[in-house]
Amino acid sequence: MAIAYTEEHNMFRQSLRKFYEKEVAPYYEEWEKEMNVPRTIWKKFGSQGFLCPWIPTKYGGSGLGFEYSVIAIEEMARADVGIPFGLHSDVVVPYFHLLGNEEQKERWLPGCASGDLLSAIAMTEPGTGSDLAAVETTAVKDGNDYIINGQKVFITNGLNSDIVIVVCKTGNEEKRHRNLSLIVVEAGTPGFDKSPPLQKMGRHLDGTVELFFEDCRVPQENLLGEEGKGFYYLMQNLQQERIVAGLGSLLAAEKMFNEGLAYAKERKAFGVKIGSFQANSFKLAEMATEIELARTFLDNLINDHIVGKQISVSRVSMAKWWISEMANRVAYHSLQLFGGYGYMEEYPISRHYRNVRVDTIFAGSTEIMKQIIAKELGL
Ligand SMILES: Cc1cc2nc3c(=O)[nH]c(=O)nc-3n(C[C@H](O)[C@H](O)[C@H](O)COP(=O)(O)OP(=O)(O)OC[C@H]3O[C@@H](n4cnc5c(N)ncnc54)[C@H](O)[C@@H]3O)c2cc1C
Repeated sequence: MAIAYTEEHNMFRQSLRKFYEKEVAPYYEEWEKEMNVPRTIWKKFGSQGFLCPWIPTKYGGSGLGFEYSVIAIEEMARADVGIPFGLHSDVVVPYFHLLGNEEQKERWLPGCASGDLLSAIAMTEPGTGSDLAAVETTAVKDGNDYIINGQKVFITNGLNSDIVIVVCKTGNEEKRHRNLSLIVVEAGTPGFDKSPPLQKMGRHLDGTVELFFEDCRVPQENLLGEEGKGFYYLMQNLQQERIVAGLGSLLAAEKMFNEGLAYAKERKAFGVKIGSFQANSFKLAEMATEIELARTFLDNLINDHIVGKQISVSRVSMAKWWISEMANRVAYHSLQLFGGYGYMEEYPISRHYRNVRVDTIFAGSTEIMKQIIAKELGL
């Protein structure tokens, strides 16, 4: 790893590892079948300082750097479990910290760190995903409130969420990007409803739901940042979301590669190990190369992000699309090495293959990432 880890980092990593081994791994299969994680696990995770470790101590966090988030994501992958802790800690909660006023920070951040308040962000709608500026959920001012009407879809952690950042249309300017605002809606607000978990091909513990808003009245104090600047805030914060997504894809690729490699060294066909066939050994060599290249590029980005260096949108987009596509190639070829066993649920590669498929779609699809890069190239 390019990140220079210290003894403190290693201690944090060891305690996380123990947490996953003791509190999560033994129950994981059962939770997957139920398609939900008990709330208590979030509380336990928070009470040990693992949720949003970067939140300043005055708001109930530990005031640590982004590298602690990286460790948390890495250890979750190592334990081979998937709970949307990272979405909460490193994608949604940063909005409260970066955009919230003092009153909002005091209201939300301590609960986000302790696990009392779980968060989600709702951008996507049935009619629009990639084209964010086309959002149709409206927030209309009425006295001191906003009245929200509309529907969101595919919202990760929506099921358990207590606070949701809802991307709403608050204006009608010709420049569509100026019409969006971020409004926080609390669970239990009249007019705000959630669907049961959506039936997905993978990632069964993400608590993915639809959200419905019908004349949902929210106080204007729940506006994050300034009205009409929502699109720009999203563009800023999506940088970290895409670094986190790229890291998730890379860790999945490493895991699937290691599974394929181990199997190729032990499974025999025609009296020899299948890894000794050049078709397979070259495939593994290609995968190893791609993973190494991805690791080097991403570590570089992560290091720049940790030290607060300005990172171009292009570089982050490159990492997001290329690593997620690479992870899907690794999924395909590693599963192929397993033959029929790879298609069986009892072999983890089958679950990893399903889970990684969405990586090229969410947090900005491959096509949208290429569009961003092309735009920076002046095309
Ligand atoms: C498991 C899961 C979790 C998710 N979690 C969240 C969440 O927490 N919050 C949230 O708000 N959203 C979430 N999403 C939504 C996700 O971000 C969107 O699905 C994604 O942005 C794509 O939008 P869409 O599905 O509407 O596809 P569309 O935008 O309709 O795109 C369909 C296809 O057309 C392509 N396309 C679109 N525009 C262009 C273009 N200009 N050029 C070339 N090709 C193009 C796309 O790349 C895609 O392949 C999640 C989705 C999934 C599946």
